[in-house]
Amino acid sequence: MPGSLAKGDGMRCEQTSKGTGCTTVGVCGKTPETAVLQDLLTYSLKGLGCWAAFAAEQGCEVPQAVYTLLNAATFATLTNVNFDDQRFKEYICAAHALREELERRLRDKGSEASPPTPANLPWFDLLAHPAAWKLSQGYLATASIDQLTQLGKMTSLEHRRHIMDPTLMGLHEMITYGLRGLAAYSHHAEVLGHHDPEVDRFMARCYAFLCSEAALDLGATLAMVDEVGAVGVKGMRLLDQGHTTKFGHPEPTQVRITPKRGKAILISGHDLQDTADLLAQTEGTGVNVWTHGELLPAHGYPALKKRYPHLAGNYGGAWYRQQREFAEFPGPVLMTTNCISEPRSSYADRMFTTGEVGWAGVTHIEGKPGQAKDFSSLIKMAQELPGFEYEPPESEAKFVTTGFARNAVLGVAGEVVKAVQQGHLKHIFLIGGCDGAEPTRKYFGKVADATPQDTMVLTLGCGKFRFYDHEFGTLPGTPLPRLLDMGQCNDAYSAVVVAGALADALGTDINGLPLSLDLSWLEQKAVIILLSLLHLGVRNIRIGPKLPAFLTPGALQVIVDKWNLQLTDVKHPEQDVAAMLAGH
Ligand code: SF4
Repeated sequence: MPGSLAKGDGMRCEQTSKGTGCTTVGVCGKTPETAVLQDLLTYSLKGLGCWAAFAAEQGCEVPQAVYTLLNAATFATLTNVNFDDQRFKEYICAAHALREELERRLRDKGSEASPPTPANLPWFDLLAHPAAWKLSQGYLATASIDQLTQLGKMTSLEHRRHIMDPTLMGLHEMITYGLRGLAAYSHHAEVLGHHDPEVDRFMARCYAFLCSEAALDLGATLAMVDEVGAVGVKGMRLLDQGHTTKFGHPEPTQVRITPKRGKAILISGHDLQDTADLLAQTEGTGVNVWTHGELLPAHGYPALKKRYPHLAGNYGGAWYRQQREFAEFPGPVLMTTNCISEPRSSYADRMFTTGEVGWAGVTHIEGKPGQAKDFSSLIKMAQELPGFEYEPPESEAKFVTTGFARNAVLGVAGEVVKAVQQGHLKHIFLIGGCDGAEPTRKYFGKVADATPQDTMVLTLGCGKFRFYDHEFGTLPGTPLPRLLDMGQCNDAYSAVVVAGALADALGTDINGLPLSLDLSWLEQKAVIILLSLLHLGVRNIRIGPKLPAFLTPGALQVIVDKWNLQLTDVKHPEQDVAAMLAGH
């Protein structure tokens, strides 16, 4: 694996404009100002993390509000989540208010101690160490976005990449992006009423690590990379519990992908609770709810599909097609989470955001965990707009199947094991992840199409849209479908459980299975999935079409040496299939 392939030097994500960091408006639409506000928020969250971890060590109770903010605000800094500068100011204010609260609590307990603030960390050269640096609420009340942007520049990645060892910086970025994905899962789980104190405390401890002398050490940093992966598995499990306890275990379900006459709302993102609330509030209104992107798997959950017949179908594909698809949809659109693209003027006035996602000028529907949001304005708009005025004859309607999460697959595990033992099933490919607009991503569809008939394809994430409606048929000699949609990107947990169960049944470990992972990389959120898989010891994972931009050559080499991470051969998908069949 040639280290020279990683030519990125501290870029944030795969969409970074011209590969130079967020210094110009990115492909995602993020302005440099928003990018540095995110950096300033991350600096503030590091300070809050230091104080929370220190308070916990001192036996001082850390209010849940601290962890709730750490999760929500960290999630908001992920690629393609929030582009609203004002919201970042609000998160920064909240982080400093909670930091003050923790200091007050410690002092009330009679402790004069404060978190360590080592002076020898080169990446904190322009502002005081995050645990020592604070912005008063008085200053924040009047600070303009421009003033905060100037402060943010002092914490930016663009600045740090000139002063840090590139390998260490690449690994620190990897930890930071891993935390962001973990925060997304913890935040979604919290909305569903689930939280894991251990995972919450880790968020604070990991931010504190990035502010400690230990973070100067490559070995300690690599150990933290692994720990982020270990906690990532817990985060995915937590969210899985949240989804399955509330909505049941997904079941194989046929989902309509052609229009059906009637008033319509489109819901996109990943949030099943918002989907459930919208379905409850549209019941009896004559408005159908259509899913988009990563909400396609919502159709497999019994508490949604059985309870709400007006969950009509799925419209459109992966997130990057939303500008065209939202423009053509004949009703309002609700974006519940990432990945949001810059709204076009043709639909911005019928677009709504909620949760941590945001775009300046787009109507935001507020909500608090545990309380149903009020979607009445959205529903009223749907009733005023035309909706679908045409539907094809039923004989021409098209459907895809979703709902093959862990329970459904383990329900047929005996047949899968038998198929392996009898030679009907030679190999399993896991092809999926985060889709993007580049033509080279057609590779993933070509790989899926090139898989032999005596193999199965598991998929998850919006990478599935490259091939979800292709005809794969069933595994010869068995009733098993060859293509199994396991769900959203976070349903990688289902894939891990299934792989573990198959390995047990076949008396091997995960690397001894006839299983290959070929993952489409785009989002920072995907880092937590990659780190979780690496923590579980999965080797030979292919990622592409390009390598993560934060992987500096040195950081890449470390990962290649340890896990044999490989880059997809986008020009030769058939050769990749052959290599995977051969166990490489
Ligand atoms: S799978 Fe990845 S790229 Fe697709 S919507 Fe989810 S986070 Fe975004």
